[in-house]
Amino acid sequence: ASNLQIQGLAKRYGNFVALAPTHLEVASGEFLTLLGPSGSGKTTLLSLIAGLSRPDEGRLIVNGRDITDGAPYERDIGMVFQNYALFPHMTIEENIAFPLKMRNMDGAQMRRRTADVLDLVRLPHVAQRYPKALSGGQQQRIALARCMVYNPSIILMDEPLGALDKKLRDQMQLEIKRIHRQSGTTIIYVTHDQEEAMTMSDRICLMNAGAIAQLGSPADLYFRP
Ligand code: ADP
Ligand code: ADP
Repeated sequence: ASNLQIQGLAKRYGNFVALAPTHLEVASGEFLTLLGPSGSGKTTLLSLIAGLSRPDEGRLIVNGRDITDGAPYERDIGMVFQNYALFPHMTIEENIAFPLKMRNMDGAQMRRRTADVLDLVRLPHVAQRYPKALSGGQQQRIALARCMVYNPSIILMDEPLGALDKKLRDQMQLEIKRIHRQSGTTIIYVTHDQEEAMTMSDRICLMNAGAIAQLGSPADLYFRP
């Protein structure tokens, strides 16, 4: 079953077409990567899905529900950014519990969910620390945990490993794949790194100049030498 349907979604800035009318269906549990050079429209598409910007045309359907006009927090969609965006004055536990607090979850249930996702990202020992005491890789795992804590059906990741060095990036690719397999959450992942897209994705959506140039499994894609 497809849990995300993108139906003719388009975005312009003045006369400039950042995203031409785009159609795409993402299956439940799929790992889909948006790959393409800088300026090809990857972040534009992701922001539209997240509800951080409004489309000029088209509809967005999540699990059969039209969310095009819904606010970001009503969308059942989580987002992870390159810069982690953790709250510096809150402990890791408080950071992760924050989305649950916003949803008025009761204390016991909140502590249980927080402990569960800390286990999922394999960092239960950092619960009482502050973000600045953690390495970049650990902060990104906490950002992912904060996103998974309310069980969104889709997680959007915008160049999540862009700030990390090569060795840590390779480790984190495996870690994200493990979390994806274990949780079964649909992931839409943005990168301009072809190798990263090839190793991580079920399907790759190759973007160019605000449009989908190719769509297929890593083995199906044709890359110009
Ligand atoms: P990518 O994520 O693939 O690097 P983006 O989606 O960020 O590409 O950008 C696509 C194009 O849209 C770029 O040429 C960018 O300059 C342009 N763009 C993005 N945001 C704005 C904006 N707020 N105003 C004008 N142009 C924008
Ligand atoms: P990262 O690679 O994300 O920067 P580290 O290199 O600090 O993380 O940690 C590598 C592994 O060791 C991680 O899986 C982490 O869960 C584990 N780890 C780190 N610090 C501790 C600790 N104090 N107690 C138990 N496990 C730890």
